[in-house]
Amino acid sequence: MVKQNLIQGTETNMTYSKTFCPYPWIHVMTQPSSTVNFCCVANGQIKNDDGSILMLNKGDDIGTVWNNNHYKKIRRQMIEGERVHGCEPCYDLEDLGIPSYRENYIKDWLGFHPNADQIQQIIDRSIDNDYEVEETPQYLDFRLGTLCNLRCRMCQSQNSSAIYKELKDEELYNEEERDKDNHCFMCERGDSIQHNPNIRKPSIT
Ligand code: SF4
Repeated sequence: MVKQNLIQGTETNMTYSKTFCPYPWIHVMTQPSSTVNFCCVANGQIKNDDGSILMLNKGDDIGTVWNNNHYKKIRRQMIEGERVHGCEPCYDLEDLGIPSYRENYIKDWLGFHPNADQIQQIIDRSIDNDYEVEETPQYLDFRLGTLCNLRCRMCQSQNSSAIYKELKDEELYNEEERDKDNHCFMCERGDSIQHNPNIRKPSIT
């Protein structure tokens, strides 16, 4: 049903559509804001079956997301080669000819990973099972708060109180951006670091 839509993958013997990514079959993440998503690179949040945004702090159950309508729709779209709302950061990179997270994750999880064959079987079984995945997620990323004393360069104020303070101190804090759960890491900090001489510079050795 889907095979004719697939293209040759790069580092594995399998074929994948141009929008396929293994994450919705293996991964769940939570944001400090209490929303849930299928990838930390993707924009947006997972919705409940009634269309509302799933909010853990409002009593929604994380156990319901794994095979809910939104997750299953994302899996189907990826298998059928449709662009998935939220995955624009990867499509934008690919449109520019730059390797995307998506392409790297295919290599990582379905090429190099010691359980690559089992993960592939999970994906294959779900296609024949209305995109339900019976196995539990392989990879959980639960971000339970923002208290942080580091300020890693790739992070952002939504996840780090130290970065939040840094941006506030430099009057670079953007309320609108903070309200978004996910956006490109470098949109906030990369620009800030690049354009403000008071923020520590990358050290290249
Ligand atoms: S395609 Fe990109 S944004 Fe979408 S799930 Fe994969 S890595 Fe995340």
